[in-house]
Amino acid sequence: MKQEHKKVLVVEDEPKILEVIKSFLESKGYVVLAAENGSKALSFFEKENISLAILDLMLPDISGEELCVALRKKSRVPIIMVTAKVEEESMLRGLSLGADDYIKKPFSLKELAARIDAVMRRSSADLSPLYTKMIFREGDLEADFQNHIFKKRGREISLTPNEYRILATLIKFPNKVFTREELIMTALGDDFEGYDRVVDSHIKNIRQKIEDDSKNPDYVLTVRGIGYKFGGR
Ligand code: CA
Repeated sequence: MKQEHKKVLVVEDEPKILEVIKSFLESKGYVVLAAENGSKALSFFEKENISLAILDLMLPDISGEELCVALRKKSRVPIIMVTAKVEEESMLRGLSLGADDYIKKPFSLKELAARIDAVMRRSSADLSPLYTKMIFREGDLEADFQNHIFKKRGREISLTPNEYRILATLIKFPNKVFTREELIMTALGDDFEGYDRVVDSHIKNIRQKIEDDSKNPDYVLTVRGIGYKFGGR
């Protein structure tokens, strides 16, 4: 896998550890964005297209756990938590907050490399939802991935299977802009014989079902010249 352009956010308040991780990742061809606290990490996250986040559990401002939750609300970027705490419980809690893996201090660079490879591999294949249920605009729209349904103001919306897959795919990758081709590949699969126009007509139908004003959508947004993204909050 080529990773020349991949950006890794490393959040660590201990300068020595930060430096070791940073130079190691740079030697592997990653671009490293180093943050020594949570607020700097969040501002990097807003501005940059991050492929992986490595978060220390104990930070001076917000905890790595809070940071993990905050990042997960915005993105499904792979997250590795770094912890000095040895208690299993805190590690498991880290994982249930949406982290993909954890690593215990002290760790070897070989171990770190193995974890990174594993989460990067998984993240490119994993299409499971961030959460089984997601609610947007204070209950206006509800996604229930477990039962494969959407609700608009509490009422179940009738979506075709393809409409469901497209909407679910957009939601599962918050803020990712999909080209029509990518949407076909990701939502409908390789063997789907369709044209870009088909996506547009599905989008039109989805908007009529979930938006207050389908001409001025809040959820399924058009990114001019590229495709679509989910904009629900
Ligand atoms: Ca720390």
